[in-house]
Amino acid sequence: MTGPRISAEVTATPASGIRALANAAWAHPGAVHLEFGEPDFDTPAHVVAAADAAARTGQTRYGPSAGLPAMRAAITEKLARDNGLPDVEPGRTVVTAGGVGALTAAYRALLEPGDEILVPDPGWTNFTTIATMLGATARGYRLVAADNFGPDYDHLASLVGPRTKAILVNSPANPVGYQWTAGQLAELGAWANRHGLCVVSDECYDQLWLDEPATTFTVAAPDTPAVTVFSLSKSYAMTGWRLGYAVTGGPGADRLAAALGRVQEATVSCVSTPTQHAGIAALTGPQDGVGRMRAAYRQRRDAAVERAATLGLDAVRPAGAFYLWLAVPSVTDSATFALDLLRDRGVALAPGIAFGAAGESRLRLSLAARSEDIDLGLTGLAGFLGV
Ligand code: PLP
Repeated sequence: MTGPRISAEVTATPASGIRALANAAWAHPGAVHLEFGEPDFDTPAHVVAAADAAARTGQTRYGPSAGLPAMRAAITEKLARDNGLPDVEPGRTVVTAGGVGALTAAYRALLEPGDEILVPDPGWTNFTTIATMLGATARGYRLVAADNFGPDYDHLASLVGPRTKAILVNSPANPVGYQWTAGQLAELGAWANRHGLCVVSDECYDQLWLDEPATTFTVAAPDTPAVTVFSLSKSYAMTGWRLGYAVTGGPGADRLAAALGRVQEATVSCVSTPTQHAGIAALTGPQDGVGRMRAAYRQRRDAAVERAATLGLDAVRPAGAFYLWLAVPSVTDSATFALDLLRDRGVALAPGIAFGAAGESRLRLSLAARSEDIDLGLTGLAGFLGV
């Protein structure tokens, strides 16, 4: 074969099953788009203005790899205000290109080729693909629906081997919408300590709790080594800005943060400087927009859960994030079913299989969409299923 030889790790990394469906939906005129987890709100005006002002006044140069000091200070202010973490040194924070940048840096800092990380199944696609890309392996762990989607510890223990280095937890969770209690997080932390594992806690939906405020992992399990991943994408409707951050906790937190900073230096140099100025405005400015968006998602959640029940659809009531996880037991191939649903009814839902084997007979509907579209999506699905 002529041309470049693509690395085995990249060749082995599957394309996102959500993107595959989205590509088909973009080619389908008039499709009702419920496949992506993207806020349908605009970035708050004061946040846009801060980036604009920064760019116009020459704040356009490289910054430190781990983030601008003012952005790291803004993060510590937000952690104290919103997450119950009052004493985080700015040195334990690292600014990243979205939550996915923080996850990638965490995996890169913790995993060598051949190492393993335990990830929830179902769970967000990239929990697995980032590992594959690095030559590591993500092993899916089961969640017990009857126990607030907590782990099955016997099963979890059976997955731990000599190369297991970390376990990922995600609360509030994509795609199921569960939110672990402080007790569940503390139990997981103690379990991780017993097995010598570092915890990667994905809290990209930390502000999008719908009933009770979400607990941050390090608040519940302060003695467990952890990287907690946050994002401005969802809370502040900033998906395209690519801004997130990692915060380390537990024993060795400083070393872990330094390692994340080295990954940043080698891979992205630093996050865009005007974007970080937008982030400072988002984290330290008025927070009423976050509350308004949360209220809108809550209202859509309530309406969608009720509508699904009326239509005879089986859906998990999400406690956080903005997805409806729908069970479709008659479906054995969710990827093909999602394409058929799109072609027949013009409704785009994410196939459950994109989130792991446990999602095969499931579909994910995004509540980050207009109420009319959510209603069209549920009605179209029920009609297509003939329920
Ligand atoms: N983590 C979870 C659980 C997500 O659902 C997403 C996006 O959908 C991300 C992380 C990454 O988001 P971003 O990189 O835009 O911050």
